[in-house]
Amino acid sequence: MPEELNFLPSLTGSFAKPAAENPTVEMVEAAYRHHGLHWRYVNTEVGPEDLGAAVAGARAMNWVGFNCSLPNKVEVIRHLDGLGESAKVIGAVNCVVRRGDQLIGENTDGKGFLKSLEEVIDPAGKQVVMFGAGGAARAIGVEVALAGATHITIVNRSENRGLELVALLNDKTPAEATFEKWDGVYSVADAVDVVINATSIGLYPDIDARLTLSLDSLLADMVVADVIPNPPRTNLIKDAEARGCKVLDGLGMLVNQGITGIEYWTGVTVDGGVMRARLEELFGI
Ligand code: NDP
Repeated sequence: MPEELNFLPSLTGSFAKPAAENPTVEMVEAAYRHHGLHWRYVNTEVGPEDLGAAVAGARAMNWVGFNCSLPNKVEVIRHLDGLGESAKVIGAVNCVVRRGDQLIGENTDGKGFLKSLEEVIDPAGKQVVMFGAGGAARAIGVEVALAGATHITIVNRSENRGLELVALLNDKTPAEATFEKWDGVYSVADAVDVVINATSIGLYPDIDARLTLSLDSLLADMVVADVIPNPPRTNLIKDAEARGCKVLDGLGMLVNQGITGIEYWTGVTVDGGVMRARLEELFGI
């Protein structure tokens, strides 16, 4: 048995739900195959009521780690032994890593976004407008602020979540953050460098949905990024492209958070191109 194989053979096939066609599973397993890594990434559906037992199970089975998604990203923290630096600031965990005999919570969502943003623009010294104030927005806001963005405007429908994120950014990062309530057609100011949709608007099946945003305010020298991974070509991406903006789809974030997670678990930096190609195949683009 290869040394890296980290599932006990007796557990093979014990998961109730097969992972077929889960994009994240397909993406990670494509990287494992490409690099000849004898690891497995499986999808299990765990509700909040079973979260403690599931984490104890992962511990007992010596898993090197796991990802967790909504609604478990905050709740999982009380079952862990510690948090990485940005997970502590963000207050949410999407990636758990075994270090020694401890399970440590990390947040790779924001790191993944930042990596894909840095491929087209250095956020240091830049002005950012971000729609949304949920989990993805918190993770992105913190990482972009820590990477040196000078000003971040949070535009959100609900005031309390928006103000909470602005307070977090002002208290815990060097960036200056302000809130604008999103209750009409929003116009992006000319001086803005990066526009980010971190809401769930446009996510399958609501693929026709559009942000209430003045498209005329999107200028060709702006970078427009969308977190929506499915479908990757959202209306925002298409509209921004038509205005001449540089665009970043949600697959970049998904791939890069995957690369970081795999690095944490295996120590290997995998090829993002292979992961993206598998996702594009799945999404038919
Ligand atoms: P949350 O539920 O925590 O937050 C959702 C956000 O979207 C809130 O700010 C909410 O506003 C806003 N929103 C939702 N619907 C509307 C609407 N109709 N009009 C205005 N605002 C709206 O979700 P997450 O932050 O966890 O996820 C957001 C998106 O990010 C999801 O689509 C998810 O798929 C994507 N994502 C992508 C990743 C990637 O790797 N590409 C990784 C993680 C997430 P309000 O506060 O007013 O409710």
